[in-house]
Formats: sequence, C-alpha cells, structure tokens
Amino acid sequence: MAIERTLSIIKPDATRRNLTGKINALFEGAGLRIVAQKRIRMTSEVAGKFYDVHRERSFFSSLCDFMCSGPVVVQVLEGENAIAHNREVMGATNPANAAPGTVRREFAESIEANSVHGSDSPENAAREIGFFFSEMEIVG
Ligand code: GDP
Repeated sequence: MAIERTLSIIKPDATRRNLTGKINALFEGAGLRIVAQKRIRMTSEVAGKFYDVHRERSFFSSLCDFMCSGPVVVQVLEGENAIAHNREVMGATNPANAAPGTVRREFAESIEANSVHGSDSPENAAREIGFFFSEMEIVG
C-alpha cells in the first residue's frame, strides 16, 4: 500500500475540552504519524475558503462560525493508505452512527461539533495540506 499524507483538524469542541492529546493518541495508536502540527484560530474568511465546497449547504454559515469559535489544531498525518485509514479512525460524520473506538464516537458532541476533520480524497488532501502548510513545515 502507498504511503500517503492527509490533512487533519482537531476542531474547537475538542480543543475546548483539552482532548488534543487523547485524539493524537488514537491517531498514533492506529499507525498514523503526525508529521506536521500547529494550533491556530481560524478567521471566518479562512473557514469560508477552507469549506468553500460546502458553501451551498444549509449548515455552511453555522459550520464556519463553529470552526472560528475556538482554537483548532491543524495537522498532517502520514501512513499507509492514510487518507482512507484516517477516515476509519475518525468514524462517521454523525457520532450517533460512528463505530465504537472511533474519535467521533468517543469524543464528538454533535454532527457539527464532531471533533475532527479529515481529507476525503487524494486531490482534497493535496489541496488542504497546501492550504495550511508549506513543505518546510512537514517533516516525515
Ligand atoms: P465529514 O467529511 O465527515 O467531515 O463530513 P462533510 O464533508 O459532509 O461535512 C463537513 C462538516 O460539516 C462535518 O464534519 C460537520 O462538522 C459539518 N456537518 C456535516 N453535516 C452537517 C449537518 O447536517 N448539520 C450541521 N450543522 N453540520 C454538519
């Protein structure tokens, strides 16, 4: 299997509850390596650009407000099949449907405040990693 990189975000509901370390332990326990990481506060302009594909969806402005409501931790995860593998570790979008042991089942508060973001395709992973990180900041 190919070694891939994927963009992960630990969302404001999780940083507020001091869960960064516990979530990182789930990633590392699943074999994903954190090869870049920084804590930032998104502005509404940044959140709007990042979630541009969801602009027409009914929850777009609520999602952008939520993502700006506190610090987030943006990270690059690396590993075999990392994009799909991280989606498995995260669990379903709605924590009510997420499998036991997944980040969202263990920690998410709601379908919106669901603790983590993860890229869903190689194209989006490349775009999303480039959105937050320069090559120099990613050390595998
Ligand atoms: P993901 O790839 O599993 O994160 O899910 P999506 O790409 O479909 O949605 C992006 C993000 O929008 C999710 O992670 C949630 O934070 C939020 N979201 C998705 N669906 C809903 C919804 O029905 N209502 C609200 N309020 N937020 C949602």
